[in-house]
Amino acid sequence: MRNSKGSLMRPDPLPYSASRPVVTPLSPSVVYASDTPDALDDQYEGRVHGYTYSREGHPNADVVAKRLDAMEGVSGGVVTSSGMAAVSTVLIGLLKAGDHVIGANQLYGRSLRLMAEDLPRLGIATTLADPSDVKAIEGAIRPETKMILVEVVSNPTLAVADITGLAKLCADSNILLVVDNTFTTPRGFRPFEHGADIVIHSITKLLAGHSDVMLGYAVARDPAINDRMRVFCVTTGMTPSPFDCWLAERGMLSFELRFDRAQETAALLADHLAEMPGIKRVIYPMRVDHPDADRASELLGSSGCNMVSFELSGGRAAANIFTREAEGLNFAPTLGDVGTTLSHPASSSHRALSADDRTALGLSEGFFRVSVGLEEPDALLQVFANAVRTATS
Ligand SMILES: *Cc1c(COP(=O)(O)O)cnc(C)c1O
Repeated sequence: MRNSKGSLMRPDPLPYSASRPVVTPLSPSVVYASDTPDALDDQYEGRVHGYTYSREGHPNADVVAKRLDAMEGVSGGVVTSSGMAAVSTVLIGLLKAGDHVIGANQLYGRSLRLMAEDLPRLGIATTLADPSDVKAIEGAIRPETKMILVEVVSNPTLAVADITGLAKLCADSNILLVVDNTFTTPRGFRPFEHGADIVIHSITKLLAGHSDVMLGYAVARDPAINDRMRVFCVTTGMTPSPFDCWLAERGMLSFELRFDRAQETAALLADHLAEMPGIKRVIYPMRVDHPDADRASELLGSSGCNMVSFELSGGRAAANIFTREAEGLNFAPTLGDVGTTLSHPASSSHRALSADDRTALGLSEGFFRVSVGLEEPDALLQVFANAVRTATS
């Protein structure tokens, strides 16, 4: 069988249909064929749009990028093979030897490692400072400081960065303000409306939402920066797979509903835990007893987030009973899944720290971070009530 535009081996890949699919087709094709060298010229010169080789770009990645661009109110974002690929694209793709970057002192673990180990190896100096204290960040600025990287709500103590103060500082000092918006999501917070220059997401978490795909995204307000990030990402091979993008798009279709539901339940859970004997303290940015409550309501409005942290009395022994008794809840190092997950920083994300350093951060053996999912709220509160009672009585 041979048709006009196929070889013997490759007939036209899709049978003709006068109607169209309502679901984005999955396009795993690595290569895209052109009609003539002139047609390819038109594509490379940007006179027409087309794909060539999937590391350079493909339809499924563009669909996800456009969706996130719209959510963040920008254009030209780059989808990457993981959230860390997005962080690396921003830090390694835009900085050069001799530059200096300031990072928040409580970033995602791998971002901290990139700052502490890999950037210095490449000749990029780094300093960590508290992003809720603009004076501390200002004190770390050097003539060669190019970038400040922060998360809006920190992991796992849920401190809220002074984004407004940092944005002003960055604008005055010609420094790029980079916001990792993974925890807060564009539903809870839109960094560009608060003066950010670059936004990063781990799509893996709430946006895709089903713990079955790893993907990231980086976007700048300045199109020239987006071009540099795209070239770096393509050159270093951090392009995402079409299937991952296809899955992420499907997850993102229900993201707003999932976020709202999870956030409402998180607020209920925080209040519920605060009333329970056996709980030493509860951290939730939208509660009036949160140290940054005013800033949280200024930045997040009523949106809040789906993360709640708390401290159980009884140390490691109680923590072991709690995770066993929390029926149906996975004790697993992730967040943003449809199911509620528990994380225990002392044995996972913060295990490399000394006990003293953990204490200084408030991360005792009884400290848990909860990513609230989509369970029926009353049933979830009941699971927590039972597990806390058994663990601490
Ligand atoms: C998970 C996460 C990342 C890294 O994303 P991956 O998709 O796991 O590579 C970066 N920043 C934050 C805040 C995260 O939670």
